[in-house]
Amino acid sequence: MRPLTYSRAADIDDAIALATSSPNSAFLAGGTTEVDLIRAGMSQSEHLVDINDLPLTTVEDRPDGGLHIGALARMNDVARTPSVVQRYPAISRALLLGASEQLRNMASMGGNLRQRTRCAYLRDGVSPCNKRQPGSGCAALDGFNRGHAILGTSEHCIATHPSDVAVALVAFDAVIQVVGPGGERSIPFDDFFLLPGDTPEIEHPIGPGELIVGIDVPGAPIARHSIYLKFRDRQSYEFALVSVAAAIEVADGVVTGARLALGGVGTKPWRARRAEDALVGRPPTEESFRYAAVVELESAVVREHNAFKVEFAQRAVVRGLTHSRNGARP
Ligand code: SF4
Repeated sequence: MRPLTYSRAADIDDAIALATSSPNSAFLAGGTTEVDLIRAGMSQSEHLVDINDLPLTTVEDRPDGGLHIGALARMNDVARTPSVVQRYPAISRALLLGASEQLRNMASMGGNLRQRTRCAYLRDGVSPCNKRQPGSGCAALDGFNRGHAILGTSEHCIATHPSDVAVALVAFDAVIQVVGPGGERSIPFDDFFLLPGDTPEIEHPIGPGELIVGIDVPGAPIARHSIYLKFRDRQSYEFALVSVAAAIEVADGVVTGARLALGGVGTKPWRARRAEDALVGRPPTEESFRYAAVVELESAVVREHNAFKVEFAQRAVVRGLTHSRNGARP
């Protein structure tokens, strides 16, 4: 057993001061990420700073029609907020398709973004794993890699990112608000999740003592007909083999805008920008959707057990875009 110390922050400044005063500190919100990592022996935390008293639980409208989501808002609360359901159905649906009812009641939005891959080789504590022990190798490359990534991989790591809601949020250009010892800063979603490259142990551009305080989602009328589809081995409490967040706008018989992101196939929540670009100006037909999906998956690198994900992801893209075109009520 490893000793841990605990303190409870009164406000944001207090939280940052407490976190920076002690090396190997971690913030504690719902506990569904950090406690999980401690139990699995994957966290080096020696001091926990409880942030549950901070006023970061609300979902608020922004002047541009977008949303500000507090980092401590619970997944279930955000999923059922009327403005989320009506204006960003893909975000609501992604939240409701994640984890279990009990976990969604506890898990915070900020913690969701900080969760780590479910790669079994990382979590078993003994296999070669460059995330756990840089330079030790990656057991998944030649191991059982059915659930691993095909996009954004490197020779050092092929783990997928497990979050569902992050896939929907990256599709709508969400921005993460962070406060730390150096002040406030904004990090676009796509920049918050780092590709593994040759440093897979570095997952986010977050420094010591920096705290996620909220998520801003810009106004996006296209999101009203968005959808999130999740495909997995069983229908509840399971991570995605493939998921898709999709939304399209059509005018005068052609696609005028598209938002597309993929889960379960990328080493980060995967914004499918190539597919988006390929769709604009084409008729909103299954043939166009299929073409865009093929374009996006051209860069896929497959391993022994996960080659099926290429076709799987392509079909998911076609289905997601079709639902959005038809009004996005599956
Ligand atoms: Fe570790 Fe990544 Fe390889 Fe899994 S895929 S064993 S997390 S380096």
